[in-house]
Parts: sequence; C-alpha cells; structure tokens
Amino acid sequence: MKIKTIAVIGLGLIGGSLLKALKDKGYKLIGISRRQSTVDKALKDRIVRYASIDINLVKEADLVFICTPINKTIDTIELIKDKVKPTCIITDAASLKGFVLEHVNNSATKIRFVGGHPMAGTENRGIEAAVDGLFNKAKWVLTPSKWSNDSDILDLQKVLISIGARPILAKAEAHDKAVALISHMPMLISQALFKSVSENQEVGDLAFKLAASGFRDMTRLSMSNVEMASDMINLNRDNIMSALVDVIRCANDLNENFNTENSDFIHKYGKLIKLRKEMYNSDGNNIT
Ligand code: NAP
Repeated sequence: MKIKTIAVIGLGLIGGSLLKALKDKGYKLIGISRRQSTVDKALKDRIVRYASIDINLVKEADLVFICTPINKTIDTIELIKDKVKPTCIITDAASLKGFVLEHVNNSATKIRFVGGHPMAGTENRGIEAAVDGLFNKAKWVLTPSKWSNDSDILDLQKVLISIGARPILAKAEAHDKAVALISHMPMLISQALFKSVSENQEVGDLAFKLAASGFRDMTRLSMSNVEMASDMINLNRDNIMSALVDVIRCANDLNENFNTENSDFIHKYGKLIKLRKEMYNSDGNNIT
C-alpha cells in the first residue's frame, strides 16, 4: 500500500521530532495531541501544517504513530481502533513492547498493529523538546503483532528508512529484556548513583565539586522524564532486577580479579575495552 497520510498522536519529544523528520518527505501529516496549547505551539512553530486535539482525524490516515506517554498507549489504541480505516497501519513508540503486544494480540478486534520503539531520545519532554534529526541513523525496533502482515511491516519500514532510521525486527519479550540491560537498568543505576552522592553526609558536597565529565556521562539518565521512568520501572521491573543482579555479579567478578599481574584477567579486560571502542565512532555515534 502506498502510504500518503500519516497521523502522529502525542506531540512531545518523540511525536514532535517525528513530525519534523517526516516534513517534506511527501506525506500529508496530521498532528494530534491532548492539549490545545500543544497543538497551537506545533502549528505556530510550523512543525506540522494540520494539527488538532480531535482524535477523529485518524480516519484519514494510512499510518498512525502513537507517541503518547507509555501509560496512555493502550487507551489510545482502544480510542482509535474503530475510527481508523481497515487498511490503516498502527504503530507506537513506547519504550516497552510486551504489555502493548499482549493487549493487541489478545484483542478481539483485528488491527494492523506493528509495535515500535525508536532507540533515540533525550531527557527532555514536551513539544518544546522536539528536535531535528533525532532519528537519523537511529535503530528503530519493530515488534509485529499477530494481526500485521509482511506488507504492513515493509510499508512501515519504508517510512522509517525515509527519515534515516534503521528498523530492526525483534520479539516483544526479547526487546523488553534487552532494553532492561542497556537502558532501563542503567537509568536506575544513574539515578541511584546521583542519589548516593547527594545523600553522602561526609564528602557528598566535595564530590559534587570535583565531579567532571565521567560523572556527567554516568548520570545523564538520572534526568529522565519522571512519568516515563516510572512506567519503565513499573512495567519492566523483573527484567530490570535480573539485569541489576547480573551487573552486581560482574562488578564482584571485576573487583575480585582486578590484578595487572594476572595475564588472563588483563586479556579479558582488554577484549572488553576493544568491544566497547568498536561500538561507537569518535562522534559518539553507533558504528553498526
Ligand atoms: P513527552 O515528551 O512527554 O510527549 C508525550 C506527549 O503526549 C505529551 O507532550 C502530551 O502532549 C501528549 N499526550 C499525553 N497524553 C495524551 C493523550 N491521552 N492523547 C494524546 N496525546 C497525549 O514524551 P516522549 O518522550 O515523547 O515519549 C513518548 C513515547 O515515546 C513514550 O511511549 C516513550 O516511552 C517513547 N520513547 C521516549 C524516548 C525518550 O527518550 N523520551 C525514547 C524512545 C521512546 P500534551 O501537551 O498535548 O498533553
């Protein structure tokens, strides 16, 4: 199917940045949000030409991106499922996929749903946080539902590729475990690290004074949007806890074996450094 009209629901960091990325790509774009003030801002800043708080506008769309907060994703699916055309592909941006896919797959209504999760973002939120180029070269996970077919996935992939993203297919359960490892558990550690320094009565103040780029990089995720952080922790708790247990195991392992005279340890440590160096280029972007 040729996708001509795309609706984006939830004009915040992800939805606004998505509209910016889709602009001038030949699609008719419709922005839908909850608050009129957000819609007005999107129109005033020329992020999109058609925007409204009226959810009925999804009727026109060939593809709908749901970019609301995680905890509004299912409500929004329910709200639009009987309004969209039968051929309309629905996707989302929620950072967790298991609970969304479970809902869609157990639903009695057939919707052409393909779950999505852009692996890009910032700690900011709202339409003011929307930025150009956010998805350029970003991985974008797709988790097909039982209702979606190969052509739905291909059509969605084409749109994502048109904005420079790199679609990756995954099972929802595996996705949720993987993001616990590389995103959700690190966010919790980042918050815990910042909290531990701030609560240190003895040298906390001095530590903050001395902190430089290492501490900055390790604690960037501690500024994550609180609604999103809360949804991630509450909906992915078991995977986050398993990931945390594994990090503690690795920390203990390193702590016990850190010895420059142990050639086996030095070899293994060197391999980890090599692997890490190979992941990002000098600009900090993913190499693969
Ligand atoms: P955000 O900046 O808070 O934007 C969400 C927007 O949704 C808000 O600006 C709000 O706009 C609107 N909204 C709230 N409830 C709504 C409703 N019931 N109907 C329609 N619009 C509604 O959040 P975000 O960071 O863009 O996150 C959106 C989704 O992307 C989440 O599922 C998140 O997990 C995912 N994601 C986020 C990141 C990240 O780094 N932030 C990365 C990847 C994926 P109003 O002003 O109109 O209320």
